[in-house]
Amino acid sequence: MRTSNAAETEAFGQRLARSLAPRDVVLVAGELGAGKTTLIRGACRELGVDEPIVSPTFTIGRRYRGRVPVSHLDLFRLPTLAGEDPGLLDDYLTPDAVAFIEWPAVGAPAIAGRGGRVHRVEIRHAGGDEREIDLASG
Ligand code: ADP
Ligand code: MG
Repeated sequence: MRTSNAAETEAFGQRLARSLAPRDVVLVAGELGAGKTTLIRGACRELGVDEPIVSPTFTIGRRYRGRVPVSHLDLFRLPTLAGEDPGLLDDYLTPDAVAFIEWPAVGAPAIAGRGGRVHRVEIRHAGGDEREIDLASG
């Protein structure tokens, strides 16, 4: 679908969040500035998170307290998971939590098979403030 401003992308995240349950993982792909964090912010609000939602900067992830625990990862600075502690994501991908992952490509193998659903969101610039958002839920 198409959004024309940040609020519409937040609303998309909000609607998506209504279908999420613990163990679910939402992979959010798209270039810098596409609106990944914006979409996740909307989803987190729907999940009852009141804290500021910004991309994690000095760690790979943050945990928020909502009606369920929420994990927010950003793997942008992680060139590969090879050479990293294999349990690196375990603190975030806990069975009680809903998890959102920006720049998910590098983490994909570690993310599969956690028992929940995997939702893939892709956001693309479509001129000005327009964004094209695709969602595939497995
Ligand atoms: P990312 O996490 O993908 O790097 P952010 O969500 O942090 O991107 O930033 C997106 C920026 O683009 C924000 O400043 C937001 O206000 C702006 N923006 C403008 N139009 C849109 C839109 N349609 N959807 C999402 N963000 C938009
Ligand atoms: Mg971001």
